[in-house]
Amino acid sequence: MSAQAPIVVVGTGLAGYSLVKELRKLDKDTPILMITADDGHNYSKPMLSTGFTKDKSADELSMADAGAMAEQLNVDIRTFTTVTAIKPDQHLLEIGDEQLSYSKLVLAWGADVIRLSIPGDGQSHVHSINDLMDYRAFRKALGDGKRVAIMGAGLIGCEFANDLRNGGYEVDVIAPSDAVMPGLLPPQAATAVRDGLAAEGVRFHLETVVENIAQQEQGVRLSLANGQQVEADLVVSAVGLRPRTELAKAAGLGCQRGIVVNRLLQTSAPDVYAMGDCAEVDGHVLLYVLPLMACARALAKTLTGEPTPVSYGTMPVMVKTPCCPTAVCPPPANVEGEWTEEREGNNVRALFKDASGQLQGFAVTGDYAVEKQALAKQVPPLH
Ligand SMILES: Cc1cc2nc3c(=O)[nH]c(=O)nc-3n(C[C@H](O)[C@H](O)[C@H](O)COP(=O)(O)OP(=O)(O)OC[C@H]3O[C@@H](n4cnc5c(N)ncnc54)[C@H](O)[C@@H]3O)c2cc1C
Repeated sequence: MSAQAPIVVVGTGLAGYSLVKELRKLDKDTPILMITADDGHNYSKPMLSTGFTKDKSADELSMADAGAMAEQLNVDIRTFTTVTAIKPDQHLLEIGDEQLSYSKLVLAWGADVIRLSIPGDGQSHVHSINDLMDYRAFRKALGDGKRVAIMGAGLIGCEFANDLRNGGYEVDVIAPSDAVMPGLLPPQAATAVRDGLAAEGVRFHLETVVENIAQQEQGVRLSLANGQQVEADLVVSAVGLRPRTELAKAAGLGCQRGIVVNRLLQTSAPDVYAMGDCAEVDGHVLLYVLPLMACARALAKTLTGEPTPVSYGTMPVMVKTPCCPTAVCPPPANVEGEWTEEREGNNVRALFKDASGQLQGFAVTGDYAVEKQALAKQVPPLH
């Protein structure tokens, strides 16, 4: 390792840029190199599922390009550059044949979309929207098309359904579950969101899957396992994300659901850290913005000589379905308890309490969504 080797941050998503912004508040000068497989634009990923409501192009969602970010943060940024291997015992990373030294390495390289392999010749019409470049490609491919089929009824699928309806598109949602956002929302809250979306004109095809996607003269025809057929100009696949662990595993770093790190965000290799969607922090895989901001603040201190374990507050998630505003604070997986739900139309208050009566999680929809802050104060922070 050379004495001048920079801190290298792989990834310029919210995790990478948030970390470097926090670092620069504490240390203006240490050389930092950021490497990204994409164009390095600084954008807020949650805005991708509000773009049709606001009629925003990809350029309008970008807050700054890589050149402007490099100047603002006093760092070097290499765009369209894919790291292909890490050699932790030599403090090196590889970009194809090129080798680069690092003093400290931060992996902030996000999560991959899960791709279903579905028979049929219509695959080129299937898009995933997990970054600004995907969003740009989707809008371009949609052109004058007006019909979008969404595979998946999770948080992202529901948000895109609401957003595309607001933008005037016909929307069909297809998913194997019998409810929307299974695993995130309890039954009544899920029904409220589904009813809200249906009232906006979203057509649901639940408890079934897409078996074939066939190219048509215009768009595609999706054949569903329940015998129905759906015609669409484009298909959005929103069936889930998986933390990127492949290169980390190949380098011998401990990985489970994500790259395993402790509360100091240290991986199993010296001077290698991970945060954001790729990381499993002390057992938690949290693919949201608030956790990565907490990690960015803590890791910036650690990297500048003040070892600081990340601590999380209570972190409710706002689901961007304006037809039925929803906030959810999922109970921790290891806590036993029960949901109780009160429903009045699309207004649902669902509370998850443990055996001692302590509130451990909640979901509130419709008019009750405003109770989010008050309820969040009663939920203990995530351990
Ligand atoms: C549509 C949508 C809406 C969302 N809405 C919300 C919301 O309302 N609230 C909320 O809390 N969360 C939301 N999320 C989740 C949140 O946006 C993510 O958790 C967060 O943006 C992840 O940031 P990241 O930097 O970890 O990953 P990413 O933004 O995915 O960044 C990964 C970076 O790593 C780079 N990279 C990957 N592999 C390599 C490689 N081998 N070499 C070099 N570079 C590489 C990529 O090019 C990219 O720069 C939403 C997500 C989506 C998709």
